[in-house]
Amino acid sequence: MPAWCPWCKVEVSEDDRIMVGVVEVASGPGRPVYACDACKVAYRIVAFADHLTDTDGNPRYTDREPFAPWSRHA
Ligand SMILES: [Zn+2]
Repeated sequence: MPAWCPWCKVEVSEDDRIMVGVVEVASGPGRPVYACDACKVAYRIVAFADHLTDTDGNPRYTDREPFAPWSRHA
């Protein structure tokens, strides 16, 4: 089943995609959200497997401001 990385809108293959969240749907289990490896690194997305057990399914980032320059973390 094809999946698209919602960040760069590129189709990700089953080998390259990383599950980063779950979208709630009205019926049945949630639909998984996949990111490509490049976006996972660029946006510092946390893999869904690394979410805490209280996850709400939304993608998470290692920073609250994904685009904050490194200097602000000093
Ligand atoms: Zn991507």
